[in-house]
Amino acid sequence: MITVLVLNAGSSSLKACLYRLTPELAATATAPPDPLWHGLLDWGQDPTVARLQVTTADQGYAASLTHPDGGIAGLRDWLKPLLDTLTRGPTKCLESLEELTIIGHRVVHGGNRYRAAVRVDAQVKAAIRELSEYAPLHNPANLLGMELMADMCPQTPQVAVFDTAFHAQLPPVARTYAIPYELTTAGIQRYGFHGISHQYVSERAATLLQRPLAELRLISCHLGNGCSLTAVKGGISVETTMGFTPTAGVMMGTRCGDLDPGILLYLLRRGRTVEELDQLVNRRSGLLGVSGVSNDLRQILAAIDQGNPQAQLAYDCFIYSLQRGIAGLLPALGGLDGLVFTAGIGENAACVRRDVCRGLAWLGIELDGHLNQQGTGDRDIAAPSAAVRVLVVRTQEDWAIARACVKCL
Ligand code: ADP
Repeated sequence: MITVLVLNAGSSSLKACLYRLTPELAATATAPPDPLWHGLLDWGQDPTVARLQVTTADQGYAASLTHPDGGIAGLRDWLKPLLDTLTRGPTKCLESLEELTIIGHRVVHGGNRYRAAVRVDAQVKAAIRELSEYAPLHNPANLLGMELMADMCPQTPQVAVFDTAFHAQLPPVARTYAIPYELTTAGIQRYGFHGISHQYVSERAATLLQRPLAELRLISCHLGNGCSLTAVKGGISVETTMGFTPTAGVMMGTRCGDLDPGILLYLLRRGRTVEELDQLVNRRSGLLGVSGVSNDLRQILAAIDQGNPQAQLAYDCFIYSLQRGIAGLLPALGGLDGLVFTAGIGENAACVRRDVCRGLAWLGIELDGHLNQQGTGDRDIAAPSAAVRVLVVRTQEDWAIARACVKCL
C-alpha cells in the first residue's frame, strides 16, 4: 500500500488530503475514491487567524489558530497542528508521519519547463523559487510547504505537480503574444493554469464516453471562483484561456479576464498605483465588479430572483464571455466531440450549463433538460441525438496529484 499526503497551498488557504492506494488502483480507478482524511487551513477572512477543519469518513475536528503576522508566516506554525490530527485525536489515521510513502504538492507555476510531475530536489525548488516572480502569491506558499514537510519527514520523497504542466505543449501560435519577440523569449508567454483539473476531467470524459482520449476533441470548462477553458486535442492541451497570469481569459468571480490593455494604461496615467490596479483586476472585477452584489454565483442568482438588473447584467456577461471563450477555442480543435463542465459552477449551476449551451446550438450542442437539471454525479447531459456530447465531471485535483505521485515512485 502507498500512503500519499497531498498538499495544496494557496494564498489564503491550504488543503490537504490523505490517500492510501495501490499502483493498480492509481492506474485503473475509473472513479476516484474518497480521501481517508481531509484537512483545511483557511485564513481568508483574517490573515492572523486560521480556521482548521479536519474530516475523516466518520469524524471531524475544528479549531482556530492564531499568529501575530499571519498569512504565509502563520503557515509555518499552523501546518504542524493540522498534520498532528493525522496521528492523534479523533481523526487519527496514522501511527506516525513516517508511514507516509510520498508527499505531493500542487505547484501553481512551473513555467513551460515541466511537462509532468517531478520529484522535488534542490534544482526543482530553485526553479519554483525563480518562477515566484510569475506567481507571487502561490509559488512561495508551495515552496514553504515543501520545506516544512522536509523538516517533519526528512526521509519521505516529495513530488511537485504543476498546474501549468498540462499546457506546456501549447503550440507557438497559442503561446505567443503579439508583443516584441524579445519579451516572448524573456518569458512573457501564455502558460495557462488549472492544468491538473483540465487534464483530469478530459481523461474522465473519455472514460465516460467509452472512447480513446487520443481521438477526442474536447473543451473543458473549469468554472469555479477562477474560471478557464481549455481545448484538449487527443489528450493534449492545444489552447487555453488563461495566459501569462490567471487573471486572463473569461470573466470570473472577482477577476476581469481579458481586458483592453489600454484601460490599465489610462488608469495608470490618471494616478492609480500598480497595487490598486492589481486589486482592481484580481479582486474587484468579474461577477463581483459588474453586479456590485457578490463574487459568488449563488448570491448573484438570488439577487436576479429579486429583480436586481445589475446582477442580471453580470450573469449575462458571464454567459456571453463563456460562449465567446468556447468559440475562440474551436480553431485549435477543428471540430468538437465533447464539452465538459467542472468545478463549483460547472458542476452545480444547471442554469449556467443551460444558458451557455443554448447559445451554441449551431455547433450541434443540445442538452437533455432533465439530465442537466436533475441528474447527479459524473454524466453525459446531451440530448441523445446531439452531435456534441456535454459532460458534467466533478474535478478531483487532489486525486490527480496522488496518482501523479505514484507514477513518480
Ligand atoms: P474555487 O475556485 O475557490 O475552488 P469552487 O470550485 O468551489 O471555487 O467554485 C465556487 C463557485 O461555485 C462560486 O461562484 C459558487 O457560487 C459556485 N457554486 C457552488 N455551488 C453552487 C450551486 N449549487 N449553484 C450555483 N453555483 C454554485
